[in-house]
Amino acid sequence: MSVNITTTRLTVRCASQHVRAGTPTCKRRSFWNTVFSKPAAVKRRARREEESPALPTPTREYHPTPIPHETIVHSPANAGQLDAYSAKTIAVSIDDTPRTFDTVFLRDSCTCPRCVDPDSRQKLFQTSDIPQEIEGKARTVQDENKSWVIEVEWQNDVPGYGAEHRTRHSLNWLRRALNTEVELRGGVRYDDRVLWDRDTITKNNKWIDYKDWTGDDSVLFDALTHLNKYGLLFLKNVPESEESVVNIAGRIGTLKDTFYGRTWDVRSKPKAENIAYTPQFLGLHMDLLYTSNPPYLQLLHSLRARTPGGESFFSDSFHAAQKLEEASKTHFRTLCTFPVTYHYHHPTYHYHYTRPTIELHPYPKYSEPTNLALHRVNWSPPFQGPFEARIGGESQTALRNYLAASHAYEKILSAEESLFEYRLNEGECVIFDNRRVLHARRAFDATKGERWLKGAYVDDDVFFSKLRVLEERFRGGGLRMGL
Ligand SMILES: [Zn+2]
Repeated sequence: MSVNITTTRLTVRCASQHVRAGTPTCKRRSFWNTVFSKPAAVKRRARREEESPALPTPTREYHPTPIPHETIVHSPANAGQLDAYSAKTIAVSIDDTPRTFDTVFLRDSCTCPRCVDPDSRQKLFQTSDIPQEIEGKARTVQDENKSWVIEVEWQNDVPGYGAEHRTRHSLNWLRRALNTEVELRGGVRYDDRVLWDRDTITKNNKWIDYKDWTGDDSVLFDALTHLNKYGLLFLKNVPESEESVVNIAGRIGTLKDTFYGRTWDVRSKPKAENIAYTPQFLGLHMDLLYTSNPPYLQLLHSLRARTPGGESFFSDSFHAAQKLEEASKTHFRTLCTFPVTYHYHHPTYHYHYTRPTIELHPYPKYSEPTNLALHRVNWSPPFQGPFEARIGGESQTALRNYLAASHAYEKILSAEESLFEYRLNEGECVIFDNRRVLHARRAFDATKGERWLKGAYVDDDVFFSKLRVLEERFRGGGLRMGL
């Protein structure tokens, strides 16, 4: 990696470099200096005012074009040299591209011990404490690990901070802050996600031994990274105990409690209140879409698999959404907007939630309908409630459009080449992303034996928290602000 942090205010830096190096390296900067620097603009304005004092001076003369940020590759010769002027932005060359940071952003994210409590890691000032007039001067220095960092001195700093206050940010952190705002927010690298069909997942499936999952953090990190990429993971050699699924989920974090309980059983029983508890075929679906925050991970541990049939199958709803978008932008758009209601309506519980089938990231950068834009899919036909009455009115075409789009989507989801089928054996556990990977089950013959799965859920916050912690430990500090 080239060492290439640099700052703005090139005129003075240029001049001093000139003097130090004694070489004419500043032609371009002299040009900018002549044309755009403040004194030149002020002179021009003064001249014009003399010529025609009655005419209002054009506004742009009062706001000359800002001096362009120029990239200066740092060499040991100019490292440590402080900018001559304070400014509201600091330009830093990152991977040979000049990038500009607002001083408010750099000040706000200061992690020095006066700004962030070293023990509690809580912020000791408020964003609203930062004066609007804040400006900074930067220099580059090497930290104790010999990595390049920018060090900023402040003008008009937060009240109470003296002139000695310095803010340091590593090049690595600045790069992450620029490129991975979603990563910082959610701990997910969406560009790492691998969308799959049957062939891809068959080749890439990962099996983890229960002992390694529970005893080895590096295996756990590897497994969670895989789960984040593919949304599907299998464990084997799981002890025959109703507590095993608690131990498996507990390695990630707190289990999500729902009205089904902290853990729950999928076994056939008469007059079941949920279709999952019958031996019938259960089509591709997600769990608990009738709640505002459906579970992120679902775990199913097989305790008994002694009936014929009952195979599980899985389909990547993101892969299907991308294929749908390629095939028909109209259908894709319909699924992004048309509201579908899910409910769980029983004497004791009545859950109800309405959502479109496909949700995109609300951030402009991710607004293109590509893999990167997909945030969530909501698809759970067995738990659908009636559409809102106004949608079913005779003058509405929306429902017809939805019907056509849902036909097209379902066809891709359940195409043979999309489905990964697996019959879970006793002592095996599957973990899948309930907001992405659809699951289904073939019918089984409940009279011929026992089928019993023990299930649990884990929330997305819990999963990503663990992934970030392990990422910091095994790949070096990165996701935490200021590192
Ligand atoms: Zn600070």
